[in-house]
Amino acid sequence: MQITPSIHAIRHSFRIPIAPGVALDRFVYSFLIYGDTITLIDAGVAGCENDIFTYIRSTCRDPSEIALIVLTHAHPDHIGSAQAIQQATRCSIAAHHAERAWIEDIDLQNRERPVPGFAALVGGPVQVDHELVDGDIIETDEVLGGEMLVFHTPGHSKGSISLFLQSSRSLFSGDAIPVAGDLPVYDDAATSVQSVKMLRGIADIRFLLSSWDHPRRGNAVYYQMDMALEYLRKIQMTVLALSDEGVTDPVELAKKTASALGLPSEAVNPLLTRTLVSNLQTRGLKNLF
Ligand SMILES: [Zn+2]
Repeated sequence: MQITPSIHAIRHSFRIPIAPGVALDRFVYSFLIYGDTITLIDAGVAGCENDIFTYIRSTCRDPSEIALIVLTHAHPDHIGSAQAIQQATRCSIAAHHAERAWIEDIDLQNRERPVPGFAALVGGPVQVDHELVDGDIIETDEVLGGEMLVFHTPGHSKGSISLFLQSSRSLFSGDAIPVAGDLPVYDDAATSVQSVKMLRGIADIRFLLSSWDHPRRGNAVYYQMDMALEYLRKIQMTVLALSDEGVTDPVELAKKTASALGLPSEAVNPLLTRTLVSNLQTRGLKNLF
C-alpha cells in the first residue's frame, strides 16, 4: 500500500501458537522508504522477506536496493526476517543501543522474554551496525530531501524508537502507541504513557505509521494517540482498583483486567501478565496522565 510518493506499507499476517491447537491471529506492518536506495523499517516475522521482496518487485524496484533496515525494537515480529534480508542484500542494520543484545542474541531474548512460538517467528540474529539514540538523525538521500529524526520512546520495550520523516511529516511509531481495545503489551507502564504523550506533542504529523495498527492520516493521527492515552488510563485504573480489592496474584490480575477491558480469554498470557504487573509499580506516581 502506497502512503506517500516515497513511503509504502506492507501488512504481514501471522499466528502465535499459545496452546496446542490454539493460535492468536496477529498482524504487523513493515514500511519501505524509497529514495536512491530503499530503507526498510522493521522486518516482520520469519518468512516476511518474501512479501517484502515481492512487493518491491511489484513497484519496479529491486530488493537489492535495500541499503538499511531500521529496527524499531527487538521483538520477534519486527526482527523476524532481518537476517534473511541482510544476507540477500548486504544491507546494514540500525537499532537503539538498548535493543542490541536481544537482536544479536535471540536465545538471550527468548530466555528473558519468552514468547510462544519464538523459534518459528525469528529467522535468526543479526549484527547491529549502527546504534541509535534519541536525537539522532538518519540522513535519507537526496530523492527524499529530508532527515529522519530518531525519538527514544521506551515503555513497550527499553530501547523502542519512533522515527519521524520530516519531508512528509510521517511518524513511524513501532509498537510505542497501544491500540485501544487490543492486547496491551509494555514493560513499563509509566514510560509508555510518557512516550505517547511526547509523540502526541509533535506538531503537524500527517501520517501515523504504527506497526500494530493500520496507517492513519489527518485528524485520525492525533485521535489514535488520544485513544491510546485513554486506554492506558483505563488499564491503570482497573489494575490499581483490583489491587486495592486484594487481587495480588499476577495471573488472576490479568484474567480480571482482561475481562474488565473486554479482551478475549486467549489474551490472558504471560505478555499480558508482565504488562499489568508493571502498572502496579506506578502506584503513587503523580501527574502520570
Ligand atoms: Zn513489540
